[in-house]
Amino acid sequence: MENTIEKIYSEALSEIDAASDRKTMEALSTRYLGRKGFVTQYLKGISSLPEAERPLAGKRSNEVKKELEARIAERLEAIEAAAEAADPGIDVTLPGRTEPTGSLHPLTRIMTEMCEIFARLGFSVVEGPEVEYDYYNFEALNIPKHHPARAMQDTFYISPETVLRTHTSSTQPRVMEKTQPPVRIIAPGKVYRCDSDLTHTPMFHQVEGLYVDEKVSFGDLKGVLTSFIHQMFDPGISLRFRPSYFPFTEPSAEVDIKCVACRGKGCRICSHTGWLEILGSGMVHPAVLENAGYDTSKVSGFAFGMGVERITMLKYGVDDIRKYFENDIRFLRQF
Ligand SMILES: [Zn+2]
Repeated sequence: MENTIEKIYSEALSEIDAASDRKTMEALSTRYLGRKGFVTQYLKGISSLPEAERPLAGKRSNEVKKELEARIAERLEAIEAAAEAADPGIDVTLPGRTEPTGSLHPLTRIMTEMCEIFARLGFSVVEGPEVEYDYYNFEALNIPKHHPARAMQDTFYISPETVLRTHTSSTQPRVMEKTQPPVRIIAPGKVYRCDSDLTHTPMFHQVEGLYVDEKVSFGDLKGVLTSFIHQMFDPGISLRFRPSYFPFTEPSAEVDIKCVACRGKGCRICSHTGWLEILGSGMVHPAVLENAGYDTSKVSGFAFGMGVERITMLKYGVDDIRKYFENDIRFLRQF
């Protein structure tokens, strides 16, 4: 009888050690330890043994039961660990996930390009505050209070004496009051106007330029702006200077380029004129130079200003200015 339980034990051990998956192991557990399993059956049969043999047989078969239970648990754990190591739940043949690469905003790209072109032409870059005194934004630029030109710009007032600057021209008097000619600067930055539609946003970007020195003429203005436009767009592009009015320049001129979309034939973008307005310019008004304390019998200058959104729209064929500020990744990814 004793031999029987030892036989069951050794057979069970070799089968358990040979099993290599969970299903087989569970079947073995039932086969030996289940309600009708060999060990259980053996235990039930002990009562029919001669009385003297019963205690030893009972003790031994309970030991066997515990040892087999422990052995099965141990083997199951090993099988699970091996399966985990072989298949961690990752398909290594799939391509890896790439981190999306950022890129510069189209306006940043164009503004940087503009600054680089003017740097080559000898201009240095200066910046001014976006919350500006009324004096620098208007009065120093020959736009006194109640001047009708103030109605041309829908100004955000912070207080009666401070505004969100409506143009980067406000940087000009700030530089001039601290610097003696020659002055040759550009001022890029954000400006604000109370306006919003297909071609206007309440915040937009400008690049302003100023050159003051002895004997600066309208010919210099034309030379600098022509060179800039040829570098910015296309060395062969036609441009024209059209008389205009700004309070801080006299004479003033707006500059048009031949339409980049239709090459001058006339289309929707150029309102069928064949020309696109891209910047305003002029000879600095003597009143502006005098406000800075300059001697207008000795020095003269020219100034110009342009919208970065506008130039970017023309360069990249963007038709709605609001797209620049919606942060739609599908739009930004194209640049
Ligand atoms: Zn056109």
